[in-house]
Amino acid sequence: MTKRIMDEVETKAREWLVERGVTLEDIAELVYFLQVKYHPDLQLDVCLDNVDKVLRKREVQNAIITGIQLDILAEKNLLDEPLQGIIDRDEGLYGVDEIIALSIVNVYGSIGFTNYGYIDKQKPGILEKLNDKESGSCHTFLDDIVGAIAAAASSRLAHSAANTE
Ligand code: MG
Repeated sequence: MTKRIMDEVETKAREWLVERGVTLEDIAELVYFLQVKYHPDLQLDVCLDNVDKVLRKREVQNAIITGIQLDILAEKNLLDEPLQGIIDRDEGLYGVDEIIALSIVNVYGSIGFTNYGYIDKQKPGILEKLNDKESGSCHTFLDDIVGAIAAAASSRLAHSAANTE
């Protein structure tokens, strides 16, 4: 792989994912979960490469740093009410967490929507961990963002597979 220079936004987005307990491998496993039924010979490193490419997109980096920032502020009780309580309780009707995640799904077109909806219902792997309310951490935004990155990477993988077959 050629060396790339990452700017501050990309560096921070990648660092924050890891600091909040999500590795690129965790997301690659979600991509594998979504795509292995269509590509039985799928390798995890191909999934990982697609996750990496998604994380190079500015829209994706912006969604990550915005969502994680709000999760962190809610965890520290630093938001004003009523937003503090809404994010802290992960209120079902709030919906802005999903909207931010959709800005990631949008990057690779409409296949992403189906994948995003599906993985959000199934909550495999890291998504189950992020949804554990007993952990004391606030992942109201992060769970949707991680699902969306996996959905976008799946779309990217599906498109590139279609181009080579
Ligand atoms: Mg959420």
